[in-house]
Amino acid sequence: MSIEPSAIATAVEDNFAAQIEWLTKLVGFPTLRGQESPCQDWLARDFAARGWSVDRYCLADVDMAHLSGFSPVMDTDYARAVQVVATIRSPEPRGRSLILQGHVDVVPTGPIEMWQSPPFSATVRDGRLHGRGAGDMKAGVSAMVFALAALRHLGYEPASDVYVETVTEEECTGNGALSTLARGYLADACLIPEPTGQRILRGTVGVMWFRLKLRGRPVHVSRSEEGTNAIVSAFGLIEAIREFTKALNERAKQHPWFSKIQNPVKFNPGKIKGGDWASSTPSWCEVDCRIAVLPGMSLEAFRRELAEVVMKAAKRDSFLADNLPEIVWNGFQADDYVLEPGSDFETAMRAAHHAAMGAEPQETILPAVTDCRFYGIPSLAYGPAGADGHGFDESVELESLKKATIVIARFISEWCGLRPAG
Ligand SMILES: [Zn+2]
Repeated sequence: MSIEPSAIATAVEDNFAAQIEWLTKLVGFPTLRGQESPCQDWLARDFAARGWSVDRYCLADVDMAHLSGFSPVMDTDYARAVQVVATIRSPEPRGRSLILQGHVDVVPTGPIEMWQSPPFSATVRDGRLHGRGAGDMKAGVSAMVFALAALRHLGYEPASDVYVETVTEEECTGNGALSTLARGYLADACLIPEPTGQRILRGTVGVMWFRLKLRGRPVHVSRSEEGTNAIVSAFGLIEAIREFTKALNERAKQHPWFSKIQNPVKFNPGKIKGGDWASSTPSWCEVDCRIAVLPGMSLEAFRRELAEVVMKAAKRDSFLADNLPEIVWNGFQADDYVLEPGSDFETAMRAAHHAAMGAEPQETILPAVTDCRFYGIPSLAYGPAGADGHGFDESVELESLKKATIVIARFISEWCGLRPAG
């Protein structure tokens, strides 16, 4: 059973106003870390209303700390980290099964007054829908849901089992995606409609988060020479890691994939706090950092190398030499990911793109992570064109959202096969 590509395009077109309305609602939930449950509850109800069977659970209920790929967490209550898996089960599965996965967690907005329009009130301007998470990746979530809606609109359902998963923790650990596997959801392939600009994601770096914890000797600032300043000491460690990053990017020039990207290893001291009083030299400082790890290097080896860099720098600091800083590996301990060319999955995705767009899709590699790394089955990121992810005025281009939805609907019809909606 197959449908004319033009019929799929028309069905997506017919539903597109409803899709934008749905996406607007989704962007309206401020799904910052730990605050995703109202959004997930809304999605769970929406999926149930579509006739899908829904598993709603939280991360605290899943035993997964022993699993490979698990990232340790601090200061986070996993009783509030709600995940949703909806299943569309075929009575007589014929095609290949599929996971459609999207994350609904978003990163903080920064100062609201820097946004042209409020981040959690989606606004359409110049053919783009703006809002925090609009591109990364609530538009992609709407694409996977409305691809299925378009097929239903035409009177069809997938002929194989399809799992629609909305997860959290993608922006900090990946433990949401990992939990779906711990809970037993597996399929022949996994599609994640991250905002790739309708390109096929060929690979990503690994990513690690860590916290530098330093101490200082507090004295009255009038006698600052007699004490030390933990914030100033932290600058010394940050500088040493920046130098190390330069060396890593020199090494990257030999890398088979990442030599194509200038300076693919990014180091970011992303959050700093320390000290208690403006007239006392700070006795403590904590810096939350992120760094990339190129494919081919184990995370364990990388942790050792980075720790050596930090401790060597600490030994140049009179106080830190005797009070070594601590490195806490919390958050992402994420492996790299490469989509090996030549899978049936990629071939089917390319054909769907070609049918809808009239040309071969381009490929991309990213100096950042996606959840694709977890699945151990062919996993691929392909989605609409987003802009300003993690920045002010984040957006998604609506025309590319429509096109990506058409491509995904076409892909589902080929990969899973179709049966009459019953
Ligand atoms: Zn994302």
